[in-house]
Amino acid sequence: MGLRIGIDLGGTKIEALALDAAGREVIRKRIPSPRRDYAATISAISSLVSEVGEGSVGIGIPGALSQVTGLVKNANSTWLIGQPLKEDLEEALGRPVKLENDANCFALSEATDGAGKGAAVVFGVILGTGVGGGIVVNCKVLSGANAIAGEWGHNPLPLPSAQDLPLPDCYCGRAGCIETYLSGPGLARDHELRTGRRLPPEEIVSLGDQSLERYVERLARALASAINLLDPEVIVLGGGMSKVGRLYTEVPRLWRRYVFSDHVATRLAPPVHGDSSGVRGAARLWD
Ligand SMILES: [Zn+2]
Repeated sequence: MGLRIGIDLGGTKIEALALDAAGREVIRKRIPSPRRDYAATISAISSLVSEVGEGSVGIGIPGALSQVTGLVKNANSTWLIGQPLKEDLEEALGRPVKLENDANCFALSEATDGAGKGAAVVFGVILGTGVGGGIVVNCKVLSGANAIAGEWGHNPLPLPSAQDLPLPDCYCGRAGCIETYLSGPGLARDHELRTGRRLPPEEIVSLGDQSLERYVERLARALASAINLLDPEVIVLGGGMSKVGRLYTEVPRLWRRYVFSDHVATRLAPPVHGDSSGVRGAARLWD
């Protein structure tokens, strides 16, 4: 087996990594993402891959490929939406490529040799600029009939109370989506609503005040509904908010009241591969 090349196509950076047959990282490169320019995105990925060399190519993208049209949908890098990304990349690279949602790549990486290693069902959750999710069953990505399996961020926040109102508008056209509360910008919005002060999410986290308590309780509510549906052994958190240590003790304590079970065996874990999980999982799409 030759190199397995993974590409993580993010809104601000494109990262490439190659794994050898033993799963060791042999090459890693990172470049800024061309913003709002589809053609430049294709050529940036193409030159990155040719620098790395021969090998299979898996690519983690924001959004997914529509099962109906084969075109990109649901991407917050909106210049990708409606584009035949798979065909254009295969033509530019001269080889077949596998594309998968970036949260699915994250979940695959953590399920293979990360925090979910050995678990049959892993739910990977990105709590970053947006909120995404991916499901891996027996080390295989579950894409789903609509290519949206795990896209829990655009479910409504369960059991909204007076504190959660008014329901915030989401870019997806709905209101009260989990993402509008549990993304980094969602935390900042909620803190501003409560205190009148606009602060970056990291500063709100370091204050450790009521805004973070509200965040923790909302995360417990939102994850409990995912546990009731999927019943995973492990939920792995990724994205900027996954660095908040108290989530891993407080959320499992709070989710007990919402999970339909006498005992909750599901573990909530930080990622083993951190920010590299997306690109590692992309490389593993050909496993
Ligand atoms: Zn939404």
